[in-house]
Amino acid sequence: LKNDQLDQWDRENFFHPSTHLAQHARGESPNRIVTGGKGVYIEDRDGTRLLDGFAGLYCVNVGYGRQEIAEAIANQAKELAYYHAYVGHGTEASITLAKMVVERAPANMSKVYFGLGGSDANETNVKLVWYYNNVLGRPEKKKIISRWRGYHGSGLMTGSLTGLELFHKKFDLPFSTVLHTVAPHYLHRPDLSMSEADFVAYCVSELEALIEREGADTIAAFIGEPVLGTGGIVPPPAGYWEAIQKVLKKHDILLIADEVVTGFGRLGSMFGSAHYGIEADFITIAKGLTSAYAPLSGSIVSDRVWKVLEQGTDEFGAIGHGWTYSAHPIGAAAGVANLKLIDELGLVKNAGETGAYFSGKLRDALSAHKNVAEVRGEGMLAAVEFVEDKPSRTFFDPSKKVGPAVAGALLKEGVIGRAMPQGDILGFAPPLTLSKAEADEIVAKTVKAVASVLG
Ligand code: PLP
Repeated sequence: LKNDQLDQWDRENFFHPSTHLAQHARGESPNRIVTGGKGVYIEDRDGTRLLDGFAGLYCVNVGYGRQEIAEAIANQAKELAYYHAYVGHGTEASITLAKMVVERAPANMSKVYFGLGGSDANETNVKLVWYYNNVLGRPEKKKIISRWRGYHGSGLMTGSLTGLELFHKKFDLPFSTVLHTVAPHYLHRPDLSMSEADFVAYCVSELEALIEREGADTIAAFIGEPVLGTGGIVPPPAGYWEAIQKVLKKHDILLIADEVVTGFGRLGSMFGSAHYGIEADFITIAKGLTSAYAPLSGSIVSDRVWKVLEQGTDEFGAIGHGWTYSAHPIGAAAGVANLKLIDELGLVKNAGETGAYFSGKLRDALSAHKNVAEVRGEGMLAAVEFVEDKPSRTFFDPSKKVGPAVAGALLKEGVIGRAMPQGDILGFAPPLTLSKAEADEIVAKTVKAVASVLG
C-alpha cells in the first residue's frame, strides 16, 4: 500500500483518540505511520528514524523490539490465546504474573485484580472503595478526592477524577462524587514568597478545609500519582506525601496511588510508593507492567482492604465486577517476560542513575534560559516548563502555543518529546534503557529546538 492510499483510508475511517475535530475537518491532521522500533528509536514508513523520548505514552519501558517478549506472546497465542479468568479459572501466565506483581509491590499489598488499561483499573479501584465502605456499613462515605492536574484516565469516573479541564468539558463531567484539591506544583504556588514547606502546609490546609466542608464521613478515598504525570511531570515538594497521609489517616480516608506511569521502575524504585514512603490501600498499574507489548493493567489491593472485602462475600455473593479480558493470557505472558527483563537488565537502577544524569544535563543546559521557568525530573521523567517573564513568573498566553512549538521543533531534530496538555511544558519519559549518549542526544537537540522557538 502507498502512503497516500493509507492517508486517505485513515482520514475516511479512523477516529483517533484526542482528535482535534475542527482541524480534521480542515484536513490538517498530521499522520505518521510507524513501522518499526529498536531500543529507544522508532521508524516510520518514510524511513525517518526518531528517538522516542516519551516511550510511546510513557509505557515502552524496556524499549522497542524485544524478541523475548514477542516470543512469549507468540508462544502463548499458539498454546492458548484466550480463556477467561472468572473465579475458578486461570492460566499459568496470569497466576505467575500475579505472584510476580505482589512480590514486587510494597509489603502491605496483598492481591492483584487484572484489567486492560489504566482507566479501567482506576474504575475498579473506585468500585472496590465503595464496596469496602458498603461492607463496613457506611455507604454514605463515598466521595473521592483527586488533585487538579491529576490524570487517572478518560472513562466516566476516571475522566472525572482527572483534574484537567480538557477531559471534562462538553462531557458533563466531573461526577458530583468527585472533588478536586490543589496540585502539588510548587512553581505554581499562589504566592511567590512561599517556601516549599509553606507550600506543603498550604496543600494540607486546602485538603483539610475541603474535608471539613464536605464532612469526613462522606469522603471515601484520595487518589494521586506519586509524581504528577500528564498534568505536567511534577515531582512533589519535599514532605508532601508524608503530610497528606497524616490527614488521610486522621479522617479514615483510603489512599489510591495511581502508579500507571511510576510503577515498575520509572522513578528508580520498583514503585513510586516505595520511593516516597506512600502506604497505599490500592496501587494502580498498567503501562510498565507489560511495557505496552500487550494491554494489561491491575489494581493491587492492600492487606487491610482485602481483609474487609473478604467479610462481604457471604452476605453479598460474588463480586459483580469483571471484564471478558481480565488477566488476558497474552497480556499476562507479555507481563511475565517483561518483568523478568526489567530485572535481568537492571532497568530500575538505570532509570535512577541515567535518569538523574539526563535531567541534570537538561538543567545545566537550559535553566539559565530567559524563558525557562524550571527544569525538573525524578528518575526517568523530566520536564522543561516555559514562562514569558521569569522574575514575575508570567506564563505565556496559551494561544501562543509555546510548548507545542518547541515539541514541533524538537521533532524536526529527530526527537519525540511531549507538549503536555496544560501549560507550556515539554515532557520526557524515555524508555528505562536510555543510555548516557542517548540522553546527550535528547539534551543537545532540545537546546536547539528551544533556541529556534524562543531565541
Ligand atoms: N493513570 C495514569 C497516571 C496515567 O498516566 C494514565 C494514562 O496515561 C492512566 C491512568 C490511564 O491509562 P489508560 O490510558 O491505559 O487507560
